[in-house]
Amino acid sequence: MLFRDFANYLLELENTPSRNQMTVLLAELFRKLADERTELSQVASACYLLEGRLVPQYQSLEFQLSVKMVLKALARLELTSNADQTGGNLFGEMDFSNQEKSILARYKKIGDVGLLAEEMLPQKDSNLDILSVYQQLVKIAKASGAGSQDQKVTGLVSLLSELDGLSARYVTRIVVGKMRLGFSTKTMLDALSWSAEGDKSLSTDLELAFQKKADLGQLATDFLSATNNQQRQVVLQNYEVQIGIPVVPQLCQRLNSAEEIIAKMKRVFAEAKYDGLRVQIHVLPEQKNNSQDGQQRVRAYTRNLEDVTYMFPELQLVPKFLNTDAAIFDSEAVGYDPATKHLLPFQNTITRKRKHAVEQAAKTVPLKFFIFDVLAVDDQPLIDENLRKRKDVLEKIFNKNEQFIITKYLETTDPKELQIFHETQLGLGLEGAVIKQVDAPYQSGRRSWYWVKIKEKQGQRGKLQDTLDCVVMGYFVGRGKRTKFGIGAFLVGVLTDDNVVKTIAKIGTGLSDDQFKELKKRADALMVADKPRVYEVAKELTPDVWTNPSLVVEIAADELTTSPLHTAGKALRFPRLVKFRDDKNWQDATTIAELQKF
Ligand code: ATP
Repeated sequence: MLFRDFANYLLELENTPSRNQMTVLLAELFRKLADERTELSQVASACYLLEGRLVPQYQSLEFQLSVKMVLKALARLELTSNADQTGGNLFGEMDFSNQEKSILARYKKIGDVGLLAEEMLPQKDSNLDILSVYQQLVKIAKASGAGSQDQKVTGLVSLLSELDGLSARYVTRIVVGKMRLGFSTKTMLDALSWSAEGDKSLSTDLELAFQKKADLGQLATDFLSATNNQQRQVVLQNYEVQIGIPVVPQLCQRLNSAEEIIAKMKRVFAEAKYDGLRVQIHVLPEQKNNSQDGQQRVRAYTRNLEDVTYMFPELQLVPKFLNTDAAIFDSEAVGYDPATKHLLPFQNTITRKRKHAVEQAAKTVPLKFFIFDVLAVDDQPLIDENLRKRKDVLEKIFNKNEQFIITKYLETTDPKELQIFHETQLGLGLEGAVIKQVDAPYQSGRRSWYWVKIKEKQGQRGKLQDTLDCVVMGYFVGRGKRTKFGIGAFLVGVLTDDNVVKTIAKIGTGLSDDQFKELKKRADALMVADKPRVYEVAKELTPDVWTNPSLVVEIAADELTTSPLHTAGKALRFPRLVKFRDDKNWQDATTIAELQKF
């Protein structure tokens, strides 16, 4: 498919407010891609580009090109075409810097590098197809080392010079990381089902397949290569966990009491709920790990499927403790103080998040990994086995040591015993218990009642029993005391089942000065000119600065009240920031449906 035809789909998707309409449009696009049988390799590339990336979510290949550098490329492009037109050489230093200045001024006016690129490029019929644009983009992203910024700019100039305006709009947005068409993985999976069956009948099976192997491009290619319903079912049913590709992590439901839990789950294993970072550990087979791709043998993924191998150099020691070659483990990493041997709070553990600080943090805040599950061993997937079997395997393959600790658990059918266990964990400064059904498989996401946590006791973190994970939607410029920070309050929202973000609070107190500063910095990086399409906000609550959906904050509050103003229909009384949830993406925020259970 020509990239300009693809860009027309992107334009339609961008202009469509309805999720259903998006699904239908995406389905039509997938169908066209599937019809071009000889070109099936373009399916994966198209999927990644739709998400504004070049590789699946669990890999990272960044362009490392700032808006400024893209503007430079545009300046160079304009000069080259002017020179072509006049037959002269306009590459003098003077001309170039003037050109850059004028482009910067235009950019400041438009505020969107994509629209600027579109405006600058002549209308023409570009003949590049998706795959060649994709390959050129990969080349630009992969350029590294000395002189690479220049190579990247040159690569971009050459690509843009072959494109029409609309294609350039999306190519430049992808390069600066501002594609954001605003649909979720779920919409893509629905669209795949729709493209083949004309309905969502295969959506659940597609979702299950994705949860086992979270690579959308690969799944779309496999799915669309099947030519009839029977073949598609076979593809999906045979989808299996693969070491090196993350499994979508299992999450907890909430229940009120130990009685309720035992009534629902019967026999359980209760474990401590550690307050650290969820880490899925993949140990690749030794012989396969000849590091051709420069990757480490042991890889780590967050609950958002992000590759965080760089954060945990100590994980390369895991194979030393294994009686097997390859495996996938589920774990929680928690910082500890070597002097006191005490576990540290989440804020200390998360210092690893900053790339340049890893080495230092590994010294000052060493980690313990509490391993609580095993999802595959060598060629054998284990996620459909029950928890008892998985725990047995874990015991057998992992040798005891101080750093990677197999999580202990209590097996019980007695609510009293469970309650005491939960309270003991709270007393130890942990987050209570995670309670897991003994005869249940590993089930991704929050769909099952196989893992449950007990709602927090009243008063622990504000009077509301649980905290909310909210999406930061924008902020208001400060007044009075806060003027110096440039932020006086911020707007947060929760999700509908269709991932629309509806407001629930405007928060102007309950933050320290440092938290306000940090919030402003993070929000500025996400600033956009217009209200993102997935937001629903009353006019009276329009913030001074809109931010794209990305940043998630954990909010405690005293009460949930009904609200005629907030589009969620509810408001928070005395909201306050507990922490930034860098480990969550916005689609993991609290939903309005979940609020019913608060
Ligand atoms: P919270 O905000 O309370 O951390 P959450 O939304 O991040 O909740 P939940 O599904 O409520 O996630 O709880 C599961 C999380 O608890 C896991 O993602 C993991 O990070 C953490 N955890 C700590 N100890 C365990 C354990 N023993 N078993 C499973 N998960 C654990």
